Amino acid sequence: MIIKPKVRGFICTNAHPAGCAANVQQQIDHVKSQGPIAEGFKGGAPKNVLVLGSSTGYGLASRITAAFGCGANTLGVFFEKPPTEKRTGSAGYYNSAAMQQAARAEGLYAESINGDAFSDEIKAQVVETLKRDMGPVDMVVYSLASPRRTDPRTGVTYNSALKPIGEAVTMRGINTDTLVVEEVTAEPATDEDIANTVKVMGGEDWEWWMDLLMKEGLLAEGCKTTAYTYIGKELTWPLYGKATIGMAKQDLDRAAEQIGSKLETIGGECRISVLKAMVTQASSAIPIMPLYISILYRIMKDEGSHEGCIEQIHGLFDGQLYGEDRHIDEAGRLRMDGKELRDEVQSQVKELWGTVTTENVMQLTDLKGYKEEFLKLFGFGIPGVDYDADINPEVDL
Ligand code: NAD
Repeated sequence: MIIKPKVRGFICTNAHPAGCAANVQQQIDHVKSQGPIAEGFKGGAPKNVLVLGSSTGYGLASRITAAFGCGANTLGVFFEKPPTEKRTGSAGYYNSAAMQQAARAEGLYAESINGDAFSDEIKAQVVETLKRDMGPVDMVVYSLASPRRTDPRTGVTYNSALKPIGEAVTMRGINTDTLVVEEVTAEPATDEDIANTVKVMGGEDWEWWMDLLMKEGLLAEGCKTTAYTYIGKELTWPLYGKATIGMAKQDLDRAAEQIGSKLETIGGECRISVLKAMVTQASSAIPIMPLYISILYRIMKDEGSHEGCIEQIHGLFDGQLYGEDRHIDEAGRLRMDGKELRDEVQSQVKELWGTVTTENVMQLTDLKGYKEEFLKLFGFGIPGVDYDADINPEVDL
């Protein structure tokens, strides 16, 4: 099969196996080039790591960092589409296959469970796999990003909403299909929208995972756990930080306190990690993010401070989770978003946001870079990959 990108709105409905493998390899190469993590750190690097949401974006970068930076065995959980003879799998499926193959080639254990991490069934499979193969974990990364969640205790399915709170918000955004810059109005959330979004993207499921692993004796002494969040500044607050998704992220803070106090009994640590805005499948679905990220990337690339998922996560593990260079805020969160939130950067973003139009968006922003990064998420546009070659979409996981 010859595989070319099929982009529909803010998603690409297919993926390139060799391109995804090349993308994973680039991340592995970056991690290896930085040397081993936690050398000299008194707690040592983690050796058995569970990553929930490990197939794309920040979760994939976490799994790669754990394996190739810490030498850890990894169990990854994700929800991805396997390929068939006629249809490609999803990018996360191919990423995971490539990651596992590379880790196993280095003698590391790397196994995956593909299914709904919110369900009891997948939780039970993880418990069984850990008991059989890996033993207790010394790190759990929670990096799920999902538009819906079925609560296994009630069977009710909740859909998250990306809406402002209180009043409607009109903001400039870009239609990534037509490349038209336009004012978009988002209507305010109802109380139900807020509650549903908290149910999907808040901390309850993370707590349930940690309670189960603790009950089953699968958390090692000193185990660390982290979940990822985005906070941003005034510009993104109306549709992120102070909107429905922001409420869900506040609930993560609540969950972190609960989990943290339970982990004290085993000398463990629970931290929320605040990461920078990044092109991922999840962020491209949030209306303001493509324009915000296009402007931000332009500014951060110009000043030489741009980072991708792998640089952010490697920095988080090496400097903060397993290092001495910690940036802890008043709420106890680890901050990796300092460069993005600097006043100099944010004031330039604000200025550009006010002047950008359909006509000048290519010159003023890094929309070109945004689009390239977006396609790269699905394994397209990567130098060295032959996109005219006939390739078998069926890859074993
Ligand atoms: P992503 O879309 O790249 O990854 C989401 C992961 O969750 C994938 O591995 C997917 O398979 C998995 N997943 C989704 N639903 C699932 C389910 N029901 N069961 C099992 N797995 C499931 O997203 P991302 O941008 O890397 O986001 C990960 C976390 O990082 C989120 O909490 C997000 O809010 C946070 N974050 C993202 C950004 C950003 O700009 N992208 C910034 C800061 C923090």
